[in-house]
Formats: sequence, structure tokens, C-alpha cells
Amino acid sequence: MTAAVLAVLCAAALFVICPSLCKTWYLPKRKGFVALMYHHAAEQNPSSLDPFTVTPAMLEKHLIFLKENGYTPISLKELEKGAPVQKPVMLTFDDGYEDNYKNLFPLLKKYNVPAVIFLVTDKIGTPEYMTWEQIREMKNSGLVQFGSHTCSHCRLRSLPDEEIVRELVRSKQILEEQLGEPVTAFCYPFGSGGFDKRVRPQVFKAGYLFDFSTNKGVNPWPWNPAKTLRRAFPRGGETLFDYHLQLTRGQSKL
Ligand SMILES: [Zn+2]
Repeated sequence: MTAAVLAVLCAAALFVICPSLCKTWYLPKRKGFVALMYHHAAEQNPSSLDPFTVTPAMLEKHLIFLKENGYTPISLKELEKGAPVQKPVMLTFDDGYEDNYKNLFPLLKKYNVPAVIFLVTDKIGTPEYMTWEQIREMKNSGLVQFGSHTCSHCRLRSLPDEEIVRELVRSKQILEEQLGEPVTAFCYPFGSGGFDKRVRPQVFKAGYLFDFSTNKGVNPWPWNPAKTLRRAFPRGGETLFDYHLQLTRGQSKL
């Protein structure tokens, strides 16, 4: 066995013995704008943790962590302006689940924190998803802004051009008719696998200003429109130390 092979085996063994080595604490801190991606805000079974579900208790700890550590939760308007703010972050929630209304909204009001929710227009008012009434109540609070996540939660890059345009334009129209204000943000279903060089220009042609992806990482501040917006993913079961890593490295694990 060569020294190189032995070194690789030792390194692999270390990662198994010491899981904290898989975390990003030893990477350099990155300054910029962090968009946090969430989905469900709900209780979950500790024995089968769903990575896309964060409990209300943990969400509350996240909001307190942001306040205590000098982060500034921003809205889409502040993102558009790009004016200097201290440690800008944005809370984003994908899909428009009803638990966002029941469990997230009270916390946003309690801590006066803005958030952006990306809606799938065909799902609105169906079981487990928010209704228009709930959406309007959140919008009228001034704390929640809504973006499009397509009409049908489709993988855009697998569709013909005319279907891509329909998903982008129709969902925007529906949201604007119902909300009575411009919808400027779009979020790709299926994240980084959901768009390519053919899809992305269509997002801006449809009139959106921002496109959020699941490319991991920290964004420059002010935001650079030439690049899709990266996000960090706080997961169910993660600790506040993991949250700190999400905010400072753009990801908690390698
Ligand atoms: Zn989604």
C-alpha cells in the first residue's frame, strides 16, 4: 500500500469517526447576502426527520439568532435597492404550504420579520396548501411578499419553449391579479436541476427581476443580476451551530 493510498484511507476514516469534519466550520467565512430556503414550518417525528421541515420552535430560535447576531432580514424591495445594510438575509419558503400560514406567520408578526413565499398557483386552495384568503391576509400584514414557483411545480428544462413561457407568464398574471401588485421574484422548482441556459432568459423576458435557485452559497451584496440567487438550506434536525454555518459559509455540510 502506497503512502498516498494510506493517507486517503486515514482521511476517510477520520470523517467517519468524527462527523464534525463533514461540516463547513473550517472554510473561510463569506460576506454577502444569504437567502435562506425553507419549505414546511411544522412539527415532525424525530425518528424520521424530514430535511424540508423545520419545527416552529426551531424557526423561532432562528429568528432570535438573527436578531441577536446583527443580521438584517430584508424584503424583495430592499434586495432590489441593494442599499447598504448590516448582514442582509432573506427568509424564503417554497411551495406555499398551509403550515406557513399557521406556524410561520405568527412568528413573523411576533418578531416583525419579513419573508418571501413562492407559490405554485395550481396548488393554491388544495389540501395542505394555503388559500387565497390566507395569502391575502399575510400580504396585507406588510411582512410577507409572494413570488412565483410556476403553475404546476414542473421541471422547466424538460418542457418545450411555449410551455416554459406559459408556466412563467400565467403564474405571474394569476398572482398579480389576486394580489394587486407586481410579482418580481421567481423560484425554480427542482432547484439547480430545474433551469439551464435556455430557461433562465425566459424568466426575465416574462418580467421577473429575481430568480432564486438551489445553488448553494452566499450571494454578493448588492446582488448581481447576471447570476441566479444562491440559497442556504437550514434543515430539520440541524443545530444552531449548523445555522451559524449556513449564514457564514452558505452551507452547513460539505
Ligand atoms: Zn418546490
